[in-house]
Amino acid sequence: SKYSKEDILKMAEEKNVKFIRMQFTDILGIVKNVAITAKQLEDALDNKIMFDGSSIDGFTRIQESDMYLRPDYDTFTIFPWRPEEGGAVARLICDVYTPDGKPFSGGPRNVLKEALKEADEMGFDMNVGPEPEFFLFQLDENGDATTKTHDDGGYFDLGPIDKGINARRSIVLALEEMGFEVEASHHEVAPGQHEIDFKYAPALKTADNIATFKFVTKAIAHEHGLHATFMPKPIFGENGSGMHVHQSLFKDGENAFYDEDDRLGLSKTGYHYIGGLLKHAKAMAAITNPSINSYKRLVPGYEAPVYLSWSSANRSALIRIPAARGNGTRVELRNPDPTANPYLAIAVMLKAGLDGIKNEIEPPKEVLENIYEMSLERKNELGIESLPGNINDAVKLLLKDEVIKSALGEHVMEHFVAAKKVEWDEYRTQVSQWELDSYLTKF
Ligand code: ADP
Ligand code: MG
Ligand code: MG
Ligand code: MG
Ligand code: MG
Repeated sequence: SKYSKEDILKMAEEKNVKFIRMQFTDILGIVKNVAITAKQLEDALDNKIMFDGSSIDGFTRIQESDMYLRPDYDTFTIFPWRPEEGGAVARLICDVYTPDGKPFSGGPRNVLKEALKEADEMGFDMNVGPEPEFFLFQLDENGDATTKTHDDGGYFDLGPIDKGINARRSIVLALEEMGFEVEASHHEVAPGQHEIDFKYAPALKTADNIATFKFVTKAIAHEHGLHATFMPKPIFGENGSGMHVHQSLFKDGENAFYDEDDRLGLSKTGYHYIGGLLKHAKAMAAITNPSINSYKRLVPGYEAPVYLSWSSANRSALIRIPAARGNGTRVELRNPDPTANPYLAIAVMLKAGLDGIKNEIEPPKEVLENIYEMSLERKNELGIESLPGNINDAVKLLLKDEVIKSALGEHVMEHFVAAKKVEWDEYRTQVSQWELDSYLTKF
């Protein structure tokens, strides 16, 4: 690893770190913290920090509540912002372990590590590059979030129209101070909507980066008096926020998706990976698009994919193959959104792709036409299916897919499905404004 225990203790001392946040992610993708003081850092690095797992949603039952945090030394990072008083604050991302020293199967980071182990046994390293989108909204006079945007900017607009640009610049600077390599940041299509792309990295690092990215973005936006939200579709009639995920497998340092002799420059491994992603995309949707609101983004007409297809050219497909070849050869899955738990989402995508490789799943023919404008007859003729229309249908499909279920493991499955059932039941029994507008006076 990059840092030793001594390195971390020295860095903390030199930078006057007073508090360290021991971070991990729960099953629903929420980052949790146990804060410790600098005095406890050495114990923490020796894996001695315990917490009560029963207070974390979906982790454990009361009778088996003790859990240990094992920090990943390489994730030690000092926050570039400081509390008003006292010294600096740092964080360590942790794996959750049971008291008998085993990785806790309900810990999403452990789930991803399991999937990566399988890739490793097949000789593959996975690289992932995400494109998270988000909205910056105004706060009201009480400091609460609104859905009012502060600008009328559009795709790639420059200031002064883009009033979020200052906030976005600070976010990018904070990320860079924390070791991110930001490749691009720009205004997105909808008013108030932004995107920050950071450089691809090994899968586990990227999952950590996505988790970090979301809370840094929220914290810095708040300093600018704005609320950053990763809710997929906050405003009806505007584009929603997605998180395209670029992925590739490397073998012996070479991109395993690339074959210069192929018509499209793709290897068998590449085609089979696409085949696996397409085969499991419907079941994976519960993980890549896990919220009620996710499915309000996945509708035709707003640049979000709906149909199960792939293409080397068009952006209406679920999977796009960007033009780069050689080491840049990659597959872009376009339906995930930033409400996905990054660890679980990357784990299921990888397992779907590996299933494709192991079983030599040939993808259907690529679709070059714009699918949004295709007739139903033509779609049927080409056998193009669509993603589930809501989280309830998505969970049903998940329950039928053995590959994706086993990628998640029993513990995560049980708690995830139970949580989604509660969410769906709560939602479906609400009476919405749309219903009142449609029925109150009509009947
Ligand atoms: P788009 O054209 O969809 O906006 P980009 O071309 O800007 O996408 O690339 C987005 C992401 O792809 C970035 O995070 C980039 O680092 C990542 N990427 C580049 N090469 C690879 C690769 N070999 N494997 C995985 N991701 C990659
Ligand atoms: Mg982009
Ligand atoms: Mg781009
Ligand atoms: Mg975008
Ligand atoms: Mg993209």
